[in-house]
This record gives sequence, C-alpha cells and structure tokens, in this order.
Amino acid sequence: MNNPITVIGGGLAGLTAAIAAAETGVPVRLHEAHQTLGGRGRATQPPHVAHEGAHVFYADGPHYTWLKERGFVAGLGWPGLGDAVTACFRADGELRRLPPIGMLRAQLRKRMTAPVDLDFHTWATGHWGERTATQLANAISVTTYDADTGRLSAAFVWGLFQRVYGPAVPAVRWVRGGWQRTIDRMADRARELGVVIETGARVDTLPTDGPVIVATDLDSARRLLGDDSLQGTSGFAALLDIAVPRDRRDRFLVFDLDGGGFHECYSAQDDSVAPAGESLFQLQMPVRVGESRDAAQQRLGAFADLAVPDWRSRNTFHRTSTSKKRTGALDLPGTTWRDRPAVDRGDGVYLAGDMVAAPGMRGEISINSAIAAAAAAVADARKAARARTESA
Ligand SMILES: Cc1cc2nc3c(=O)[nH]c(=O)nc-3n(C[C@H](O)[C@H](O)[C@H](O)COP(=O)(O)OP(=O)(O)OC[C@H]3O[C@@H](n4cnc5c(N)ncnc54)[C@H](O)[C@@H]3O)c2cc1C
Repeated sequence: MNNPITVIGGGLAGLTAAIAAAETGVPVRLHEAHQTLGGRGRATQPPHVAHEGAHVFYADGPHYTWLKERGFVAGLGWPGLGDAVTACFRADGELRRLPPIGMLRAQLRKRMTAPVDLDFHTWATGHWGERTATQLANAISVTTYDADTGRLSAAFVWGLFQRVYGPAVPAVRWVRGGWQRTIDRMADRARELGVVIETGARVDTLPTDGPVIVATDLDSARRLLGDDSLQGTSGFAALLDIAVPRDRRDRFLVFDLDGGGFHECYSAQDDSVAPAGESLFQLQMPVRVGESRDAAQQRLGAFADLAVPDWRSRNTFHRTSTSKKRTGALDLPGTTWRDRPAVDRGDGVYLAGDMVAAPGMRGEISINSAIAAAAAAVADARKAARARTESA
C-alpha cells in the first residue's frame, strides 16, 4: 500500500493535483482551510453569479486539453452576434469600434519574437513608437492586472498579447455557470476517485507520512514551508461587479487602452449568471504605484460610466473589491517562468499554484504546476512503496 499523498489547498491547483494523483490509484487526501472548495475560482450564489474578477479559460494550451478530456469545461456559452458587435476599445477617452492603427499593425506581427532581457515598453517603442507601446501594454493589462505592464519582460508580455489579440481565432472560452461549475465538477470527480476531502481544515504543519503538494497561494506556502525565498510579482487591481436591467446602450466588452481597464458582460454568453432580463458586468482597473484603492475605484467607476451608461442609478447588484497578488505570476525583464519558485522543494514536498515555475498565464500556471507536482509525488509514493516491499 502506498503512503497517501497530502494536498494542501482546494482551489484549482489543489483539485487538479488531487485528481491527477488519484487517477494513478495512489491514495490522496486534501485539506482546505475554507468551508468550501474553489479558492479564487469560487463565485457568489445565484441569482447574481459573480467571481473575484472576470474569469475565463483559454483553449490553446495543455491545461485546457486536461480539463476538456475530463469533461470539466463542458457546456460552453457564446455571446450573440448583437452583443459581440458592441465590443470596443477606449482610446483618448473615447469608445471606438476598432483598435488604433498602431495596435492593428502589432496584432498582425505573428512571427515576431521579443527578448526576455528587455522591458516591453522599450522594445515596443522601438518598433511602433511610444504611444502605441503604451496602448499595447494597457491592452494586455486585461490579463496582467498591472498598471505598468510595460515594465515587464518583453517576451512575457508579447506572448500574452499574441494569445489575446493575435490573428489566430480567439481561444477564450466561457463555461456556462462560470468557474464554480468547473470547480464543482472537479470536486465530484475527486470524490469519485476516492480522494478524502476535508474542508474547514487549515494545515499549519507539513505532514511527514508521505509526499505533500502545497497548493495554496504563495504567501501561505511561504509560511507553511518557512521559506522566505518564496516570492514573486503579481497584479493589483480594483474590481467592480454590477447588474442592471438589460439595455441596448450597454457594451459587451471594452478594452481600455488609456488606463489598462477591462469591462465584460458575463450574461451575454451565459444567461444563468443573472436574473432574467438583467445583464451582469465585471470590470477591473489596475491600481497605479502610489495610488489609493479609493482613487483606483473612482477611475474604475468613470470607466463603467462609459461602458454601462447610468449604471449608478440603474444597478440591481453592485460589489466593489480590490485584488492584490491574486492574479498569477508576472515575469520581470531577464526572467521567464523557469525562474519562479520551483515545483520540487525537496524531501517529497511539491508546490503548485499560479506563482510557481510552470508555463501559461494565471490559472493555467496552477493547472500545469499541479499536474507536474502530482506526477512527481506519485513517483515518490511508488518508490517508497517499492522500498517497503523489498525490505519486508
Ligand atoms: C480578479 C481575478 C481575475 C482572474 N481571472 C482569471 C482568468 O480569467 N483566467 C485564469 O486562468 N485565471 C484568472 N485568475 C486567476 C485564477 O483565479 C487563479 O490563478 C486560480 O484560481 C488560483 O488557483 P489556486 O488553486 O492556485 O489558488 P487558490 O484559488 O488561492 O486556492 C488556494 C486554496 O488554498 C487554501 N489554503 C491556503 N492556505 C491553506 C492552509 N494552510 N491549509 C489549507 N488550505 C489552505 C485557500 O483557502 C484556497 O482555497 C483571476 C484571479 C483574479 C483574482
């Protein structure tokens, strides 16, 4: 009999690790501090199903194949044509249907590569001029949640830009019911595979009776492992959720090239997330260095005034929050994902999550690192079982 693998944390990473390990037949137990599973993938209860910020999957990587093969992302929603044509860009304070010409030129440079060592702003300025460089960086803040995306590694930002705005068919996917639906399916599958799940069970000391996968946020992992080297760079943004009675003036998507904000209507592709006749919007605005959270919320409110006219008097649901260091790893010049905290911490302890050394963006890093951590933990468990058999 193998010693059990212990997974600490029941978000996307912890559930992925638990399922991947349990599929091999090794016993797995999972401890989650919160009363419910899902971590940052949790959503509010109906009738308004709102996440901690806009949450989508991209279908162009191994993380998505893994989710799809197991039926976790079945039942997708798509916006109607009428909604899709209201997508637009904010540039120089105005909403416009098409991106500026400089951005269009950049979007077409599919084969171009960018250096790891240089910051994106300097590199993009050299190609398209300073104004376009700033607009490109703000355009991709939709995934970085950072007010100065231009300071990050050019290779990192350019890779994100090509995935989100490049000429390939957009890979964005919305699961009907939101991420909560995916989390619920994953939890069901884990239980089916025999994973012992304990919620309301914070772990303060690492267990020593088998391999351990620490699938918490990086701050918790640092405390648990007592390892101050577990550090990284992530985003900081003001968030706003609003619901209003449906109105033709409201926009489906707005990419904010002036301030790095983003606006999306979630009920356009999934009418299960808002009451009949209402639209649910999720908006974000990165917080600038030295800016107060209130000031960022005010800029976000002004952005919402453009995307959802009169929302302040029309809203039926309204929630504000701020998210700091919760949107996944960002790579600074001279670094790639390989320079983030390694998955293998030695002595049978592994890290999974969106701040560790695995490819992808945001939640994809959690999934990819969890699959790697599970494979290594299973190999450890089998090795220990073989050693016991040989010495018996
Ligand atoms: C505003 C916002 C928008 C986002 N949009 C997207 C998006 O569109 N696409 C995308 O891919 N990603 C997105 N993300 C990122 C995505 O939500 C996260 O990358 C992902 O959910 C992280 O999952 P995780 O399991 O690694 O961490 P978490 O979800 O943080 O899970 C960690 C779990 O560990 C538990 N825990 C912590 N300490 C302990 C302990 N000591 N003992 C037991 N349990 C513990 C916590 O309670 C938590 O449930 C977004 C994030 C935010 C904040």
